Amino acid sequence: MSLLADNIKSLEGYLARFRASSIQNRIAGADVPGAGGTFQTISPVDESVICDVARGTADDIDAAAQAASDAFAGWRDMPAKERRGILIRIAEGIEARAEEIALCECWDTGQAHKFMSKAALRGAENFRYFADQVVQARDGQHLKSPTLMNVTSRVPIGPVGVITPWNTPFMLSTWKIAPALAAGCTVVHKPAEASPLTARLLVEIAEEAGLPPGVLNTVNGFGEEAGKALCEHPKIRAIAFVGESRTGSLITKQGADTLKRNHLELGGKNPVIVFDDADLDRALDAVIFMIYSINGERCTSSSRLLIQDTIRAEFEAKLVARVNNINVGHPLDPRTEIGPLVSQEHFDKVTSYFDIAKDDGATIAAGGEAIEGPGFFVKPTLFTGASNQMRIAQEEIFGPVLTSIPFATEEEALAIANDTPYGLTGYVWTNDLTRALQFTDQLEAGMIWVNSENVRHLPTPFGGVKSSGIGRDGGDWSFEFYMEQKHVGFATGQHKITKLGAL
Ligand code: NAD
Repeated sequence: MSLLADNIKSLEGYLARFRASSIQNRIAGADVPGAGGTFQTISPVDESVICDVARGTADDIDAAAQAASDAFAGWRDMPAKERRGILIRIAEGIEARAEEIALCECWDTGQAHKFMSKAALRGAENFRYFADQVVQARDGQHLKSPTLMNVTSRVPIGPVGVITPWNTPFMLSTWKIAPALAAGCTVVHKPAEASPLTARLLVEIAEEAGLPPGVLNTVNGFGEEAGKALCEHPKIRAIAFVGESRTGSLITKQGADTLKRNHLELGGKNPVIVFDDADLDRALDAVIFMIYSINGERCTSSSRLLIQDTIRAEFEAKLVARVNNINVGHPLDPRTEIGPLVSQEHFDKVTSYFDIAKDDGATIAAGGEAIEGPGFFVKPTLFTGASNQMRIAQEEIFGPVLTSIPFATEEEALAIANDTPYGLTGYVWTNDLTRALQFTDQLEAGMIWVNSENVRHLPTPFGGVKSSGIGRDGGDWSFEFYMEQKHVGFATGQHKITKLGAL
């Protein structure tokens, strides 16, 4: 049997339980049907119904927030070593079920197995990394003044909401949930409506690992219904959100009345700048990888190629040959490099840019077509002859679509790179150290890589500037969001207290 056939057979085994009964919400360790009935989740691979999913409403969010609130003191006060042990066991549970997670994720989202098998394991890494931070997460400082011994410590903020998107949903969920739990917070998770399968697996794994009921609750449903209610709930102290920039703005408005703390990881239109002194073979590999892997449905994708005019023709010619050679196919086939886009709605959005590019006067140098269904497949696409004012250079397309823009000088490259509402990542290819230092200093982005694709290192800060977000994940930055600083001043002696009313 082929590896594809093997994977399909294994997937069928994993899906049987979802098909037999709908995915329910998980609140206080129990399955709960959605107060709003159910909705269907559809596979983008063949457009078949995978299963019914609980449609959570404000009532379900209320029950989950109450459960998270009830569980908070117990989880917060559990000895750090015990909490650490549970997080390690969650990582082990993820590793044990990595194949199931990867196959379900591919079927639910259309992502290629080539990338999702690693994403599942990165989810485990997130839990292991933050498990190791549990013991010292609450440590603080001793700030002595003449009359006081001032002591700071960090305490978990309380029950938090985590709202996640459909691109690599398992990995992104663990990225938020692992530090929240490590900090001592309890969580209500609202996964994206387009990708509910692996959120269900995560809460099961967590409970099997010994996470007490109510510490992690999962409420499925739509953003404007369950998501909105979560942002508005008075018992939820903070919202960790990953998604589109315009949704990030709604999250902020919805949380205003209850003074929510929000962490927003939003969209991007990230530039990769290739100068003519760079190692062009490596630059080519990285440019292709950073836009065509993960179906281009990646916030950190380098969707704008800024190419120096001296090497443009040669670089673009090589690019076209490679892009036309990318293997689009069934996501469970290990040879597949691009699978289908997540949904009909997203497919319509991505393919609409093929006409927009033509109308704006750009050239479609590769792709620019859908592939006949069933399934939401598109050809990997390259637009050339573009200017940075075109919509294909300004708007986040979020598919396997690259816009190439020429530049002549360093100053021009910098001006183009920064001329966007976004500022998530930037990639600079040059062997001139001074240029790299100056360029990165002036590039408006939260994260920049020089002569490298995006390589995530968990202790480093992850996040964007401008419309790409507010706040940082990673290392201690995650704890700054999920925890509050607390100060206590102890008098060291009998310092003078100003007396009022004692004359
Ligand atoms: P989206 O904003 O449409 O949805 C994200 C989540 O928000 C979903 O769970 C959705 O149900 C929920 N939601 C929608 N409206 C809501 C509302 N009014 N209140 C509360 N919740 C609401 O995003 P998407 O289409 O699922 O994901 C793609 C986007 O995510 C892209 O813009 C991408 O760049 C971004 N993204 C950013 C990062 C990052 O780290 N910066 C990482 C991955 C994805």
